[in-house]
Amino acid sequence: MKIAFIGLGTMGVGMSLNILKAGHEVSVHNRTREKEKAVAKEGARRAVSPREAAEGAEIMVTMVSDTPDVEEVVLGTDGIIHGAPRGAIVIDMSTISPAATRKMAQALGQKGIKMLDAPVSGGPEGANNGTLAIMVGGDSDDFAKALPILEIMGKTVTHVGPIGAGQITKAINQIIISGTYLSVAEGLTLGMKAGLDMEKVIAAINGGAASSWVLHNRGINVVNNDYPLGFRVKLHHKDLGIALQTARELEVTLPVTAFVEQIENGLIASGYGDDDVSAIGRAIRKQSGLD
Ligand code: NAP
Repeated sequence: MKIAFIGLGTMGVGMSLNILKAGHEVSVHNRTREKEKAVAKEGARRAVSPREAAEGAEIMVTMVSDTPDVEEVVLGTDGIIHGAPRGAIVIDMSTISPAATRKMAQALGQKGIKMLDAPVSGGPEGANNGTLAIMVGGDSDDFAKALPILEIMGKTVTHVGPIGAGQITKAINQIIISGTYLSVAEGLTLGMKAGLDMEKVIAAINGGAASSWVLHNRGINVVNNDYPLGFRVKLHHKDLGIALQTARELEVTLPVTAFVEQIENGLIASGYGDDDVSAIGRAIRKQSGLD
């Protein structure tokens, strides 16, 4: 198939390389064009704009940062909407606002272009290994057409409902994981203050009911007080904004999410916005007198 891939950051490089390796014809574009080189070296065509990347493509994947970025890539003057053929499918895999997603799908629909929202979980490891969890919203026929491409990038691909449902599912994912990051930071800080061997503690807990992806993959960051990417604090903070806005619309109480969002405000203000989100541990360590 002819695939366009827009957004070659922490996640997009691995995802686009996997599509390329599966034998598809891929054209790529990134705002900072330098980042296209790694994928072009493996055989992708470089496009000067999302519009050019979309010309002739059957599927266009977007993996950029935030809602305004997806709007620019999809609907902007040099956006996908001006290059994509009728019947083509935009799969937005970024994490953005469900309401903005529905509006974009409407604008694309007027030009005969389909849209799926397909945000992901699983980090750069999942992106590189093709093992992401992908939560998809949109029309069933479009989902069926896109599935072979989604299955290259993910191990669990679930059609959860109509357009926007993928983004709401991802908001739920971020609500749940924010509590996990916070409680992993709290528990591990307690262990350090008690003078325990933390590698042994993590191994012991990972065998039981409190095991989690966060503890397994990011717990050691809190122990070392070093937070390599990963997933930026700024991006997680953006996701919690989406969750809190959606909760406001639906009249839902999210106390832990609101608390973690406030901790992240402080991390960003202190210059840690580009750390991995496990840097929530910084706040707990500092408050506990470890640093
Ligand atoms: P990232 O490293 O910041 O990469 C985003 C990429 O999109 C950058 O290369 C950026 O280009 C490009 N971009 C932004 N606006 C653009 C535009 N208007 N035109 C063309 N390219 C544009 O972010 P990421 O970590 O890969 O995350 C991407 C999305 O996936 C986000 O919505 C994030 O919330 C979500 N996500 C991330 C993870 C994770 O663990 N990292 C996990 C799940 C979901 P520049 O270099 O010019 O800025």
